[in-house]
Amino acid sequence: MAEKIQSIRGMNDVLPDETPYWQWVEEKLRQLMAAYHYDEIRFPIVEKTALFKRSIGEVTDIVEKEMYTFDDRNGDSLTLRPEGTAACVRAGIQNGILVNQQQRLWYMGPMFRHERPQKGRYRQFYQLGVEVFGLNGPDIDAELIIMTARFWKILGLEKSVNLQINSLGTSESRAGYKTILSNYLQANKDLLDEDSQRRLESNPLRILDSKNPKMQEMIEQAPRLMDHLDEESQQHFTRLCAYLDAVGIAYEINTRLVRGLDYYSKTVFEWVTDKLGAQGTVCAGGRYDGLVKQLGGREIPAVGFAMGLERLIELLEKEEIKKHLKHPHIVMLMMGERAQNAGFALTEQIRNEVRNIRVYTICGAGSFKSQMKKADKSQAKIAIILGDDELDNDVVTIKYLRADKDNDTAQQQQITQQQLIELLNKLS
Ligand code: ATP
Ligand code: MG
Repeated sequence: MAEKIQSIRGMNDVLPDETPYWQWVEEKLRQLMAAYHYDEIRFPIVEKTALFKRSIGEVTDIVEKEMYTFDDRNGDSLTLRPEGTAACVRAGIQNGILVNQQQRLWYMGPMFRHERPQKGRYRQFYQLGVEVFGLNGPDIDAELIIMTARFWKILGLEKSVNLQINSLGTSESRAGYKTILSNYLQANKDLLDEDSQRRLESNPLRILDSKNPKMQEMIEQAPRLMDHLDEESQQHFTRLCAYLDAVGIAYEINTRLVRGLDYYSKTVFEWVTDKLGAQGTVCAGGRYDGLVKQLGGREIPAVGFAMGLERLIELLEKEEIKKHLKHPHIVMLMMGERAQNAGFALTEQIRNEVRNIRVYTICGAGSFKSQMKKADKSQAKIAIILGDDELDNDVVTIKYLRADKDNDTAQQQQITQQQLIELLNKLS
């Protein structure tokens, strides 16, 4: 036998017994986006490396360690997108859809990061991303949070996740704080790990995002950015809190929340669960008022978030969703060659005349018994049997596979094709 080729570590297949949960979540997300009047945008999975370096920041985990970067055949440096925001901004600027307009956009698809694979952390993973352009008030920040809170309810996860919020201020106000933070970190230099020592000069704020347990106490004691906010950011944050209070969304103000990317300003937030071990963040986002300009566009305010679909699906109550899975309504059994010829025409007629019906046609022939076994397994409600007898008499045999109040499964009856269509129209 030829040697088997395995998939890439951290890049998973989603098999048919799992895809229904993915489809369920995706469908609910599409409905959610429609309910808030957001439009879908699609952009490539690969972009020029410079796009991510310039937006996410050179001195971040993603850019320093996690990007899938390669030279293509022309020698251009390309990168598999590690996140969607930068690409969305690039697409918005390039297509001229950001200037003098407001955009409320969403996208869904795979992202790629070369991390150590573990539960809830993969090298190809899926995100829903939402990005809003052209609005600078805290009301839109609140809408994004309200929208995600609604989504947890739809998924039955409202008790599993908690909201943390913080403000990073404007980049000007952050500059002053950076000096104060640097001084503090300098004084505690021996407590810093290798990454953080290196970032002390280049990006001290990133040190606050460290997950290293040994550094948590030192980080806890660090001067708080919240105490150094400019007036405008302070007001923005107070208004945001007021909106959340007004709709009854509970939150925790986490003054250490800085997020792992450089482009954020003012509002940042994360929805966190304690049910997934260390991989606890299921949704994260914030405002990034400087990014459009930084990537060559006009000065356009923006805010967004991304949620990781694997972590969400891990949290779902699957038994509950199973009840909503879509089985076929009917299954067609065709006995003999004549019936097979006539059967395809009949199933097409059924699909033409019965709206939204799901018909499973058993292919590959086989004995009645083996076809019945497949029919049973399909969980269809009704089997339709077509054989020589039925064809001679211009009828079909129907058999109920699942008993309900009107039918018992022992019963078998013969009806005309027209009667069948009428019956199915009542059923689907
Ligand atoms: P973490 O702190 O867990 O590394 P992050 O801050 O790097 O997350 P973001 O870049 O904000 O994550 O991405 C938003 C969301 O995407 C995360 O909250 C998480 O749900 C999901 N996510 C990020 N990286 C991965 C990954 N490697 N595998 C699966 N999901 C991920
Ligand atoms: Mg990460």
